[in-house]
Amino acid sequence: MTPNETAREQIKTAGAAAGLNRETIERLLNIDREVHASLPVRMDSGGLRFFSAYRVEHNNWRGPYKGGIRWHEKVDIDEVRALAIWMTLKCAIAGIPMGGGKGGVVVNPKELSVGEKERLARAWAKAFADIIGPKKDVPAPDVNTTSAEMDWIEDEFSKITGDKSGAVITGKSVPNGGSLGRDKATARGGMLVLEALRERLELPAGARVAVQGFGNAGGTFARLASEAGYKIVAVSDSKGAVANLNGLNLAAIEAHKRENGTLVGAPDAEAVEDVLAVDCDLLIPAALENSIREDNVGGVKAKVILELANGPTTREADEILQSRGVLIVPDSLANSGGVTVSYFEWEQNTTNAKWTAEEVDAKLQEKMKAAAEEMWKTHEELAVPLRVAAHVVAMRRLAEVAPAI
Ligand code: GLU
Repeated sequence: MTPNETAREQIKTAGAAAGLNRETIERLLNIDREVHASLPVRMDSGGLRFFSAYRVEHNNWRGPYKGGIRWHEKVDIDEVRALAIWMTLKCAIAGIPMGGGKGGVVVNPKELSVGEKERLARAWAKAFADIIGPKKDVPAPDVNTTSAEMDWIEDEFSKITGDKSGAVITGKSVPNGGSLGRDKATARGGMLVLEALRERLELPAGARVAVQGFGNAGGTFARLASEAGYKIVAVSDSKGAVANLNGLNLAAIEAHKRENGTLVGAPDAEAVEDVLAVDCDLLIPAALENSIREDNVGGVKAKVILELANGPTTREADEILQSRGVLIVPDSLANSGGVTVSYFEWEQNTTNAKWTAEEVDAKLQEKMKAAAEEMWKTHEELAVPLRVAAHVVAMRRLAEVAPAI
């Protein structure tokens, strides 16, 4: 199943479990708008290249469309649609007044110079300036985009429109209107959800953790989890995986990654074929969609999975894991800390305020705990898997505010 098919099936399953009528479910399956663009970029060589780009706006019943911009050579429109649908569900379960959207650019940013990246970001802002805006559609970082790209887009947008509030985009650098805590928010939110549910998930103290993906979400989560007393036994990046069943030396791994661009070859860490199959209590998929599939789910040994990536588990693998009694804390809740602090950033920009790191963290804690409790309550009341429960909470909240047609 493609990510879009998975997302659509999830809406149908949760819609039925929530007791929503057919028309509301159909409306939640509908994508409001999608814009395709071709971005011309002057390369350092003097030549011109064109990059395909998308923005998908799924639903704005609860607030402006919200969601990141992914730069990846394999981005396709089907994937961006799924990611936009998941943003709608995520914002609703997190209890923030935002809708769902997503952007993508087909590019391998590792091949671009800093100047080329800046020109690509500015070209993106020019192409989509008409549809984005603080009250319309608010992008943010996603895979391979950082505060630098957000700052360029914000700057270009402000030149085009005169809007200098910064509220058009989140995940900006702090001096340029970014929120304190946004950089770590996805991982921090995942930790807060984990702590809220740890006893109910029956995770032992010092549980052994394997993390797939060492980008902003996975790398930061590994650090926070190890500081909280979890034992990190395996980590991976796009180049390979390493493990040490006695616990990895995370500082050494981070230093190795900084110096060599990969964690492969880090000291006291044995190279392993598949991070998903390492013996552990808790598995954190924090890379891309469709990582846990029918063909590799058999190797998964963890009893609990906390999804920091979007859509890491295919529908088929999800069913197999359910039947084996594995508890999956779904992406829509587990990684919603990122967009939650994005919303805090938007709110600070629109009210011209600056919250302290402590204020941001306290507000994030409150949101994550409330969302986790609500999901668990629905899981027990309806006797449905955690994923379905999270989506039921989200879809009921959406249905309550469905505008009349
Ligand atoms: N890209 C992140 C996500 O998938 C963050 C989105 C946002 O902050 O708007 O949740």
